[in-house]
Formats: sequence, C-alpha cells, structure tokens
Amino acid sequence: MAIVETCGQCGTKNRIPVEHMADTGRCGNCKASLPPVHAAIAADTALFDEIVSKAKVPVLVDFWAEWCGPCRMAAPQVAETARQMAGQAVVLKVDTEAHPQLAARYNVRGIPNFAVFAGGRLVHQQAGLVGADQMTHWLREASAATTR
Ligand code: ZN
Repeated sequence: MAIVETCGQCGTKNRIPVEHMADTGRCGNCKASLPPVHAAIAADTALFDEIVSKAKVPVLVDFWAEWCGPCRMAAPQVAETARQMAGQAVVLKVDTEAHPQLAARYNVRGIPNFAVFAGGRLVHQQAGLVGADQMTHWLREASAATTR
C-alpha cells in the first residue's frame, strides 16, 4: 500500500511507500524533490495497520466523526501538527463511523480521541480537544523515547 503525493512542480501523482512517508523523495516524472508527507492521511484499518507497523517515526492518530463538534474544532490543529511535524512524524485520521472496529480495538468512546504510536506500540492515548502544541509535544516525547 502507498500514499499518493502530488508533485508541486509538474502535478504528477507519486506513490510513496508508507515507510518513506517521513522522507524527502523525488518526483518520478520531473525529479523535483518531494517533501515528506505533511498532511493528515485518512486511514482505513489496513492502511492504519501498515503505517503503524512500518513507520520509522511516531504516528499520531485522530479518531473522529463527522457529527462531533469538538472533532471539527480539532481538525485544523491536527492539520497544523501534520505540517509542523512533517519529516518527524506521521498523522492519521480515522473516521470512527466508517471504521468502528478500529475504534473499538483502542477502546475509543469519547471523541476526539488521540493515540500516539512509536515503534508499532501505543505509547499515549487521550480523549478530548487539545491544540497542535500538545499534539506536537506528545510526538516529540514519543520520538525521544524510541531513539533513546
Ligand atoms: Zn514532478
């Protein structure tokens, strides 16, 4: 499975293997450099499992739903975190209505619910609206814990 990233120079859609999501790549068509993935990725269960197990950087997961007001307030914070942490972390969004079994696996009841994974393991989980500063802090802590 791969993430699709559009080249900012020529518009070619490049397929990025999940283990290289946090790396700077090169467009297959025009050879322009492709920045690390810097947006939150909507994940289904298969993509979630692959990214959490293969990512070389910490992964923040936002469990959310369309009807949830605080989730809508969290969305720009999640997007900001993905931008700020590009190359150092990966950010996923899991729609709990579309993927209830994945939410159940992590006992997600109240949303938004945030989970941080490092080295394939759950290292932090917390429900409730938080800002990008807090999300970034979790990811930096997870990163420090795994590189020690
Ligand atoms: Zn290109």
